[in-house]
Amino acid sequence: MPSDVIAIYPGSFDPLTAGHLDLIHRSSRLFSRLIVAVLRNEHKHPLFTVAERVEMLEEALGNVANVEVDSFDGLLVEYATAKKASVILRGIRAISDYEFELQMTHMNRRLQPQIETVFLMANEQYSFISSKLVKEVYRLGGNVSGLVSPSVEARLRSKLPDMNHSRGDAK
Ligand code: ADP
Repeated sequence: MPSDVIAIYPGSFDPLTAGHLDLIHRSSRLFSRLIVAVLRNEHKHPLFTVAERVEMLEEALGNVANVEVDSFDGLLVEYATAKKASVILRGIRAISDYEFELQMTHMNRRLQPQIETVFLMANEQYSFISSKLVKEVYRLGGNVSGLVSPSVEARLRSKLPDMNHSRGDAK
């Protein structure tokens, strides 16, 4: 029985949401170390730079002892192997996540059979939250408080100062 299981939680975190944070807090109790790893993938045209996304995570997770924040590019299984991680952690919100996650899991297992992908079901209160939807709603002037932290909301305001958010009085 391994006593020291290191898990990697990879993602775009563009931006970090309450759903991601819930998953991180829940999984930090399951593994001895959890590395939250921001994927450096410019093909996705992220709103926030990798450094900004790392900062958001560090701000939110500074007090969680066994969680660290990093970034990576290239093959996830290679990064995980370099970090001596045996688990890849992912979240499932709905059936729509399942198909893509299943494909990735099989591919990663083929590439590196020693690494298991572990899924946590999203907390029902956060299961509708995605970074993409948060950005869309914010862009259109909608209220995203409770979906992201106040500091992430402030970062959204500085990136997207238009619509109804210019004075910080989101509707
Ligand atoms: P990616 O671009 O890799 O999907 P994300 O940052 O959107 O990156 O998501 C990273 C992981 O977190 C994925 O496994 C995703 O399913 C999960 N996730 C995203 N939002 C939530 C949420 N609201 N609740 C639980 N898990 C989530």
